[in-house]
Amino acid sequence: MKLIHLYPREMNIYGDTGNVVVLARRLKWRGLPVEIAAVSVGDPLPHDADILLGGGGQDAAQGEIGADFAGRGAELRAMADDGLVMLTICGTYQMLGHEFITHEGRRIPGVGVLDIVTTGQAERLIGNNYVDTDDAGRLVGYENHSGLTDLGPGVRPLGSTQLGRGNNGRDQTEGAVRDNVIGTYLHGPVLAKSPQFADDLLRRALSRRGRDTDLEPLDDSLAEQAARVAAGRPR
Ligand code: GLN
Repeated sequence: MKLIHLYPREMNIYGDTGNVVVLARRLKWRGLPVEIAAVSVGDPLPHDADILLGGGGQDAAQGEIGADFAGRGAELRAMADDGLVMLTICGTYQMLGHEFITHEGRRIPGVGVLDIVTTGQAERLIGNNYVDTDDAGRLVGYENHSGLTDLGPGVRPLGSTQLGRGNNGRDQTEGAVRDNVIGTYLHGPVLAKSPQFADDLLRRALSRRGRDTDLEPLDDSLAEQAARVAAGRPR
């Protein structure tokens, strides 16, 4: 399986690179070979990948990669239409949408893969968070963002969260999904504390390759314990 790691230098806060490590490890533990392609500003996007991962970033980092990312819009939309699995966190999630207007009023254009818009505000949403999903149970992570995201009709929420958190603090939605493209505000890295979610992504990618094989169960007791502790901690 081939994983694309987008902008590993600029878009990697609160441990988001760990999502790449978790997927690679879960594949290796099951004897499945894995290759990781890091894609930085100016690098070509591989077209034979199975999963694309992108992490969070400060507004400044989002500005730094903004033009490069926007230039990949047509390619990323075609990949999404083709069923590529994408897991994008916070800053990259925002930029998969139509646009992100920062708290200072700067417009960072998105690529329109997800039907969402994000607007920065002075107060940040910060703290441990959990999200209840239909597809992968409870996801546990950490959020820290000024951007408030509103979902359009082209996406559904990834799950529901408590009031004051998630996409915008108002509607109790968290994240967004269309086809195999997923965005969420959960850092942490989220996959380290949400092993079912990690396997859901691997299953989506295998099934896209026509391989609906069962994934061998792993001992997730440590990840589950970490999730329980984090979900029980106050903000
Ligand atoms: N800079 C964006 C915001 O504050 C994203 C932050 C992040 O990726 N944690 O909303």
